[in-house]
Amino acid sequence: MKINIIGGGPAGLYFAILMKKSDSSHEITIYERNGPDDTFGWGVVFSGKTLTNLREADEETHAEITKEFEAWDNVDVVHGDSKISIRGNSFSGISRLQLLKILQQRCEQLGVKLHFRSEIADVEALRRSCDLLVAADGVNSTVRKQYASHFLPTLDVRPNRYIWYGTNQLFHGLTLTFRESDAGVFAAHSYKFNKTTSTFIIECDEQTWQRGGFAELSDGQTRARLAEVFARDLKRHPLLSNNSKWINFLLVKNHRWFFENIVLLGDALHTAHFSIGSGTKLAMEDAIALHACFQRTSDAVRALREFESTRKPIIEEYQAAAHESMLWFENARNYMPLSPPQLALSLMTRSGRVTYEDLKKRDPIFIAQYETTRL
Ligand SMILES: Cc1cc2nc3c(=O)[nH]c(=O)nc-3n(C[C@H](O)[C@H](O)[C@H](O)COP(=O)(O)OP(=O)(O)OC[C@H]3O[C@@H](n4cnc5c(N)ncnc54)[C@H](O)[C@@H]3O)c2cc1C
Repeated sequence: MKINIIGGGPAGLYFAILMKKSDSSHEITIYERNGPDDTFGWGVVFSGKTLTNLREADEETHAEITKEFEAWDNVDVVHGDSKISIRGNSFSGISRLQLLKILQQRCEQLGVKLHFRSEIADVEALRRSCDLLVAADGVNSTVRKQYASHFLPTLDVRPNRYIWYGTNQLFHGLTLTFRESDAGVFAAHSYKFNKTTSTFIIECDEQTWQRGGFAELSDGQTRARLAEVFARDLKRHPLLSNNSKWINFLLVKNHRWFFENIVLLGDALHTAHFSIGSGTKLAMEDAIALHACFQRTSDAVRALREFESTRKPIIEEYQAAAHESMLWFENARNYMPLSPPQLALSLMTRSGRVTYEDLKKRDPIFIAQYETTRL
């Protein structure tokens, strides 16, 4: 089979690996507009369950990922002077650049052709020259735009602003920090992803952003202002920028997932709010699911139809949970009057995927603490 892939992110690279591994006669080419080392972002997170899925799909990649990652089991909720730790939440983090390097190397080892600095504008020509065109071209997918009348996407620009930074202050475990300033409430989502660096994403609502005057601030001024807001958490470590810009989260859904021999994958197909740390996970699990469909038939249209019918309900359920989590953060200021254990419980149960009963099993000490403050 001749397969062209637009986009060398986790979705495109991992799908190429799985297809080439199961049949080396596939001719697979990835077109990536950036160079092999140009990436944005800091760390990415995986749950224990995702790592099991990755191990089952390709042990070699899994072994490389787990050599590099940082594992933890606590979620820390920080507000005012208090820090509440909730145990029993197994996650791990790895640098996005490191992950892409591992996937690129595995592609090269298997014989996948990687064309860097190749931006695809003529999608139609590319799709005519292959049996399957995979559009793994990210959240602002060109392919999705060009074939919008077939995919029928819905794009929902959410009101909160967020910015993705790194820092050398190490946050052991997923740390959710809330700081109130004159401008309003800022939330930080942070976690260590290697020995020296943590991801530090800052989110706030539109009014807070406007009152903070961020539209007028340079990159350096923005980092200095936000470092002041989180001064007691960052402990004098600066915020590190990697072309970091304020953005509004874009919620992407598509009514149809494929058109003839083109299929959307990863962020091009769907997004889920970063507060449940799932963009990379979903992209790689999409690749696993699509590959599984091609194991059952070599007929592209049948495989794509099966991919849509089997994976869509899973993604919809995930997006529903992510939606609840996103709404929680969009309304974060309403939760600030809660006591620290109440705030922590509200956060832990926000998406509906974790219940009070689950927490009782995972961390009875936390639940006992919560019950004491209710009295
Ligand atoms: C600013 C920002 C920072 C982020 N940082 C993190 C982070 O630190 N941790 C995390 O877990 N998630 C992060 N995410 C989310 C995460 O990147 C995605 O959820 C995940 O990478 C999805 O994988 P993907 O392969 O579908 O898309 P992507 O990783 O976005 O890959 C798509 C690729 O397609 C390429 N491309 C696009 N159009 C073309 C074209 N026409 N021709 C050729 N190539 C093209 C792009 O250059 C890109 O490399 C971030 C998102 C954004 C917007």
